[in-house]
Amino acid sequence: MKIEQVLPIQPKIEISNFEEAATGCDLGITHFLITSDGEKIENPRYLNRSLKHLASLQKQLSKKKKGSKNFAKAKRKVAKLHLKITNQRKDFLHKISRQLVNENQVIVLEDLNVKGMVKNKKLARHISDVSWSTFKTFLSYKCGWEGKYLILVDRFFPSSKQCGGCGEKNVMLTLSERIWACSSCGQEHDRDINAAKNIKKEGLRLLQEELATA
Ligand SMILES: [Zn+2]
Repeated sequence: MKIEQVLPIQPKIEISNFEEAATGCDLGITHFLITSDGEKIENPRYLNRSLKHLASLQKQLSKKKKGSKNFAKAKRKVAKLHLKITNQRKDFLHKISRQLVNENQVIVLEDLNVKGMVKNKKLARHISDVSWSTFKTFLSYKCGWEGKYLILVDRFFPSSKQCGGCGEKNVMLTLSERIWACSSCGQEHDRDINAAKNIKKEGLRLLQEELATA
């Protein structure tokens, strides 16, 4: 676990109610972000459109003869769209990180192993991975400016399989099960929101531990 201490321009905010002050975030592919408050933020449509367009441009490029004029032309088109997507992404990530920092004093995020992930060859996946690491950076300095906490929870923390109600582990839970009921306490869970709640809980536990020893 790491508590980000980037640019501590402002002294850290005093927290009276940890439960209310914090939000946990689960990052995904279908949804960009799911919060412990039950909010699901989708990747914006214009981005998906651009990604489809990019895939088709790359296919066209792959058919051109290397070194030819048409190859150079197609390559330029791909680069131009890449830049557009990067900018659209950044706008989106700034907006979401700003909203989270405005609404919370503590933000808990899964610490994703981005280095390992960007090697993934699938385009959509690749773009998501890059976004996540940029998102973390944006959150990190926005929190730093305002004396808020960004807490990174180890990504091997079993956030999806643990019941957010009673803590029982559902070892049988498969990836395709989006909604499940805890066999121990009976509580029904949306898989992603439950994961976000567990991330929040773990982050708050770690923060309180840290504050107690500081
Ligand atoms: Zn339970």
